[in-house]
Amino acid sequence: MLFDVSKGLYLMNKLIKCISLSCLLLASFSPLAKQIAITFDDAPRPDTTYLNSAERNKHLLSALNKHDVTAMFFITTKHMQDGRDKRLLEYAQSNQLLANHSHSHISAYKIPSADFIADVAKAHQILQTYTNYHAYFRFPYLHHGDTRQKRDELRAGLTTLGLKQGYITIDDSDWYLDSLFQQAVTADIPLQLDSWREVYINHIVASANYYQQLAEKNLMQAPKQVLLLHENDLAALFMDELIQAIKKDGWEIISPLEAYQDKIANRYPDTMHNNQGRLAAVLAEKGIAPNSMIQRSQRPEALKKQLENLGLIPVSE
Ligand SMILES: [Zn+2]
Repeated sequence: MLFDVSKGLYLMNKLIKCISLSCLLLASFSPLAKQIAITFDDAPRPDTTYLNSAERNKHLLSALNKHDVTAMFFITTKHMQDGRDKRLLEYAQSNQLLANHSHSHISAYKIPSADFIADVAKAHQILQTYTNYHAYFRFPYLHHGDTRQKRDELRAGLTTLGLKQGYITIDDSDWYLDSLFQQAVTADIPLQLDSWREVYINHIVASANYYQQLAEKNLMQAPKQVLLLHENDLAALFMDELIQAIKKDGWEIISPLEAYQDKIANRYPDTMHNNQGRLAAVLAEKGIAPNSMIQRSQRPEALKKQLENLGLIPVSE
């Protein structure tokens, strides 16, 4: 029997179309893994009017221990004064990880590269005496240098010190919410902790999903995400419920050391848009306008309005 070439080609075409369609359907129906690591900047922060440093740590570590979560605390070593170096031992006792957030917490936009690296080296030296210290560095304010030359000098300086970048992928305004919470503490209005909890948790979970969707939309894949939080009162008060909410939303909480094994860790995008985290930097390098990546409903001004409307902070003039 003679082989009918045109019929064969027709069938093969059909088969290819069918396979492509199945792949497409599979891709659109199989959600990408939602993996997230939790990190805290600026530790160990001084006392506030609401919680002192020891109380804050007690709340925070008890929540992390309860859920068996390993987080990474980026230490600003100048904060270790007034006995707060004890906090670092408490992190170690709870199997939490330490990393470097500089000694003086100065923006890399403001001082020469050599001075900046000397400040990081000072923190590195102090932190090396702690066994749970891991050689990751996070830029204060996520400022990686204000010129390409400085950015590259800083990258090289960190490599010379043996430090990897402790980047984030999920940016949010937890620091701003906490600053408004401190205003509410000192203002003459009742503290409604239930409402604060709801706003805080919704903001963090919405931010995590925002960056997950940003990755899915533009990369067709999502990195192991790294969440930026600060060692502040809101984190201490609501960490237990935040972890529960993150899990309920379908996320797997992983160790930051596992997150930093993601292939995005080896990407050093050629962009000056670095203050929104590594994922946004990768997307900026691909040509996506930074302005289009703003999470508008969760911007500080929107959060402030929301808190004013809820009566959680005094209405500004
Ligand atoms: Zn910081």
